[in-house]
Amino acid sequence: MTLELYLWTGYIFIMGLFMGSFFNVVGIRVPEKISLLGRSKCPDCGHQLGVLELIPIIGYIFLRGRCKNCKSHISVKYPIMEFITGFLFAISFVFLHENMIEYILVIVFISLLVIVSVSDLYYQVVPDVVLLVFLPLLLGLRIASPVIVWYEGIIGAVIGFGFMFLMSIYGKIRFQKEALGGGDIKLYGLIGLVLGFNTIFISVLLAGVYGLLYFAILRPKNHYIPFVPFIALGSITAYFVGPYVNEWILNILV
Ligand SMILES: [Zn+2]
Repeated sequence: MTLELYLWTGYIFIMGLFMGSFFNVVGIRVPEKISLLGRSKCPDCGHQLGVLELIPIIGYIFLRGRCKNCKSHISVKYPIMEFITGFLFAISFVFLHENMIEYILVIVFISLLVIVSVSDLYYQVVPDVVLLVFLPLLLGLRIASPVIVWYEGIIGAVIGFGFMFLMSIYGKIRFQKEALGGGDIKLYGLIGLVLGFNTIFISVLLAGVYGLLYFAILRPKNHYIPFVPFIALGSITAYFVGPYVNEWILNILV
């Protein structure tokens, strides 16, 4: 890596932290139908955050995870989401900086995944309006980017949506309850659009593996486990390792 590339990567990481901070706001406010404008407040006492408190991660460390005014606990989810966004924006740049359209597609995709993960963590919903805003963006960029042929994306979207739809019907019959939400099904349509039909199943498989690992290691006692963060993580991993896995499978078969 050249010095210039290091500097750009560092700059993008910091910008990504600020974007992550904004995605926290979007993911929390959209399901509650609150305006995205206006500064963040402490949910407990309504104290409006100052400029220093708004700096991603640093603000959290500076406040030691507590509201400056009422000392109530601030969720560690905020700085974690900020860091993940910054990290993913930066690492994608390292891999994709020679193909700017694909890079923009991937950071738009990461943005979507962070926002819906936040909404799922706080309210157990995937807001339709977020999916509707991202659909034309991702579709346009998938068509414009030369990395995979555009119809691979379209077929991927149909397969992603269709497969999850069938799984939800199966789940309803088998377990007599809603196992997959409508939001998850629609989200997989968008994931298929970005990944293409070659990689969509690897993302489903990885989401399952991450989910199982989480259960096995942390043994959560909560009644509801938000699954969208695992879907998001599975999709991002599949985006980067999927093509290698496909090549590996082909080598074994041929
Ligand atoms: Zn407070």
